[in-house]
Amino acid sequence: MSDCIFCKIANHEIPSTVVFEDEQVIAFRDLDPQAPTHVLVIPKHHYATITDDVPAETLAAMANAIKEVTKAEGIDESGFRVITNAGPDAGQTVHHFHMHVLGGKNLGMGLLSADAQ
Ligand code: 5GP
Ligand code: ZN
Repeated sequence: MSDCIFCKIANHEIPSTVVFEDEQVIAFRDLDPQAPTHVLVIPKHHYATITDDVPAETLAAMANAIKEVTKAEGIDESGFRVITNAGPDAGQTVHHFHMHVLGGKNLGMGLLSADAQ
């Protein structure tokens, strides 16, 4: 996907603040953070959404990245929320599968969103 911004971040073609990386996934800070910690975890390969036949191995690598990131950010015990938006009703704006990892404050219960309280 040559015009995909997250593919370009995964390839280090455009800069981002990387907080974790391995062969399969990269995690970087969201440009417009909604919480003290707001990190996006993405597969390096392009999938549109979580239901785009993402291999189990890739999903496991993303779960591992979430574990490493939340430990490194010091929110593994205080708590965090993982969100993935898919399609228009969810407001997905970047069509490369990504998981938002949010934490560092009380996130409330509003619509599972950090800013909908
Ligand atoms: P979505 O609404 O698709 O679930 O979330 C896309 C997220 O990507 C948004 O939170 C937005 O702030 C973030 N984002 C969009 N473009 C960039 C970018 O170029 N760099 C980074 N670090 N984040 C981005
Ligand atoms: Zn992509």
